[in-house]
Amino acid sequence: MFRIGPAGVPLRSKERSSLAGIQVTKDLGLDAMELEFVHGCRMKDESAAAVGALAKKLDVSLSCHASYYLNLLSPNEVTLKKTVSELERTAEVLEWCGGKRIVFHSGFYLKMDHPSAYAAMKTEYKALAQTIADRGHNVVLAPEVTGKKSQFGSVEELYGLAEEIGYDKIQPAIDWGHVHARDNGALNKPEDFEKVLQTVEKHVGKEGLKTLHCHVEGIHFTEKGERNHLRITEGPPDYKMLLKVLKDYRCAGTLICESPAMEDDALILQKEWQKS
Ligand SMILES: [Zn+2]
Repeated sequence: MFRIGPAGVPLRSKERSSLAGIQVTKDLGLDAMELEFVHGCRMKDESAAAVGALAKKLDVSLSCHASYYLNLLSPNEVTLKKTVSELERTAEVLEWCGGKRIVFHSGFYLKMDHPSAYAAMKTEYKALAQTIADRGHNVVLAPEVTGKKSQFGSVEELYGLAEEIGYDKIQPAIDWGHVHARDNGALNKPEDFEKVLQTVEKHVGKEGLKTLHCHVEGIHFTEKGERNHLRITEGPPDYKMLLKVLKDYRCAGTLICESPAMEDDALILQKEWQKS
């Protein structure tokens, strides 16, 4: 089973608050929503507690997307500190919301070679996970598979780190559009999707397949990778093929739709998932 929902307050919700968004999500018959803290997490503890109470009452599961302006590989001490404190605050707010996964973009390789970036990222993830544990937060870091070659975060890198640090602390988010764009159109036949799931299983076992957190959208890309998101019906990867492979591999978890018509496309995904 997958919980399915929009990446943020549904577009049709006139009131643009998280509370209204959760209600509209529920009214549409969807059961997950990602809170978008993409321009910084400024939610107050009291508001977060109210959001958590409503989500629990309506059985809408919550995750969040942290700020876009993060770089855990920054050579600049100030940027790095800001990144870490933003993620720590986001973790605290998500805890208040009763959500589980903090989805975030880890950063840019810049001048680092990939093995050095991997090693540096391991140190950063470990430290963050330790802070989260020390504070008693019941949330996990969900570094997202990124859509550009310049960004840290291939499926192999993220699940490798999840295996090394522990899947209880690091549960990567698979953005299927990003997987496709990162390698200039990687997902064309069922075996291409299967390869991703095999990588997950290789590193973290079957549990990884039962607890997937995915972003789904159509993607427009250039040779550098991701350009922009499209409707799932208007761009690759083929969402029907994706759902079929997820079903064949008995996967479960959450599908968050990040298309420009997110709740409509989430409903299309839900309908297609329930078909077979
Ligand atoms: Zn993202």
